[in-house]
Amino acid sequence: MEDKNPSSNFIRNIVLEDVKTGKHDMVITRFPPEPNGYLHIGHVRAIQLNFELADEFNGKTNLRFDDTNPVKEDEEFVKAIKKDIEWLGYEWENLFFASDYFEEMYNRAVLLIKKGKAFVCDLTGDEIKEYRGTLTEPGKESPYRNRTVEENLDLFERMRKGEFEDGIKVLRAKIDMTSPNINLRDPILYRISHATHHNTGDTWCIYPMYDFAHPIEDAIEGVTHSLCTIEFEDHRPLYDWVVRECEMEKQPRQIEFGELNLTNTIMSKRKLKKLVDEKYVDNWDDPRLPTISGLRRRGVTPEAIRSFIRETGISKTNSVVDVQMLEHFVREDLKLKVPRTMAVLKPLKVVITNYPEDQVEMLEAENNSENPEMGNRKIPFSREIYIEQEDFMEDPPKKYHRLYIGNEVRLKHAYFITCNDAIKDDQGKVVELHCTYDPETKSGTGFTGRKVKGTIHWVDAKHAIPAEFRLYDALIIEDETTNNAEKTFLDKVNPHSLEKIQGFVEPNMKDVKPQEKFQFFRHGYFNVDPKCSTKDKLVYNRIVSLKSSFKIE
Ligand code: ATP
Ligand code: MG
Repeated sequence: MEDKNPSSNFIRNIVLEDVKTGKHDMVITRFPPEPNGYLHIGHVRAIQLNFELADEFNGKTNLRFDDTNPVKEDEEFVKAIKKDIEWLGYEWENLFFASDYFEEMYNRAVLLIKKGKAFVCDLTGDEIKEYRGTLTEPGKESPYRNRTVEENLDLFERMRKGEFEDGIKVLRAKIDMTSPNINLRDPILYRISHATHHNTGDTWCIYPMYDFAHPIEDAIEGVTHSLCTIEFEDHRPLYDWVVRECEMEKQPRQIEFGELNLTNTIMSKRKLKKLVDEKYVDNWDDPRLPTISGLRRRGVTPEAIRSFIRETGISKTNSVVDVQMLEHFVREDLKLKVPRTMAVLKPLKVVITNYPEDQVEMLEAENNSENPEMGNRKIPFSREIYIEQEDFMEDPPKKYHRLYIGNEVRLKHAYFITCNDAIKDDQGKVVELHCTYDPETKSGTGFTGRKVKGTIHWVDAKHAIPAEFRLYDALIIEDETTNNAEKTFLDKVNPHSLEKIQGFVEPNMKDVKPQEKFQFFRHGYFNVDPKCSTKDKLVYNRIVSLKSSFKIE
């Protein structure tokens, strides 16, 4: 049977082979976040890969919180991660916590001790590091390596009972201190930590290390393909050792794939947490962050994220993808879905001197010129309107087709107007324009009398609603001034990543809902901020601007 799946990748090929040869009746995958922060868009590569693989082969995907480090983990993160995965549109089969297996893990560790494959070690952390050796030198065996099984069992039990302070003892695997793979040089399996765990409270004061816990978790759940990022490639022999020596019934297979990173941002929970804790950003859902909650608040849709991630593919090396590619998918997704309306971000008042004083007319405007199904709306027009400050120039350069004294432009959905006069304040700043309109040129009447080169947008001054617009720029600047070994990522944070401006939107925006999205003519796509926007003060986040030079090959 020929396989024509366009999104095929090397992991899918392995799974396909395993299904064909009948190695597994059912494909089981898991997404195993540690609840020590919020998910970011890099995680979506792992989420999509796990969920869509299992789905394709009628398998299952579990969500498992890898909560083996109580000091950094929190219930807040558990909730946020669940919400994000659901929002992305993925449904897990079972919800598991690694901490539910602590007893089983303890028993497996006891089994290792009984088999002479693990020992309690009293070396300090620094000594263990020193004894470990380097890539070019073998390690040295711990003086505690040859404790008897009885002694090890007794000490491990007393570790569990809380007889020792943090760091006094660890349980280590007994493998090979001369192995070329440093991960196999008697790695630590358990450490003492008198910390309260978000799930198990104070039941435990010893906690398993990732390399010991993860394979056991996978095996308990019958995970067939355990997918992780490439940094764990060198840990795979240890993963297999744990599965084998702990005599796990099921043998999961670890397969590694390359991480996804984006330009001009940070993709590590640890660093993101620092930005949040040190108030560089508002919170985990700050629209500048690449967190799922930040992207959601900014207005990026799950569809756009999923299409983007799919396009980046799966490979064996880490990749850095241009953030413009994500923006491309955002525009593609919103293009036909959202209404196109007008907003003036930096207003300049225009008085149309030949328009009757008390007249208001309702003009017909299409909601989306590329999607007629979105219908029309009515917008008021009267003697005073706002346009963008930058749509008028006193001394325009050549090819400037917008307003200047004596020039005529089209007002989108309305009339042609000609600029006659610019009123200035004491400082010489233009504060108001006087224009005249030509009633013959009304939009939609088929006027062909003459052409104008510029079309500008506007809102009716009397009816427009004030609004705040939040424009975002790169969070992290990578250039020759910041790409310097002495600089940390905090030195690269762009101090101008957020600009808040006060302008106006069309009056039909009065009942907008949080997360409602619009294209504002010439400005880009905007989202009603779910946190800050209220009936009395509308706040819009710019999701993306309209244009990009980015092209998908
Ligand atoms: P971070 O380094 O950002 O804190 P992590 O790897 O420590 O991430 P986990 O909670 O362990 O975070 O991640 C859950 C899963 O997501 C893991 O399987 C991990 O390999 C994967 N993952 C994390 N970051 C990325 C990324 N940038 N690209 C692809 N997969 C990722
Ligand atoms: Mg990590």
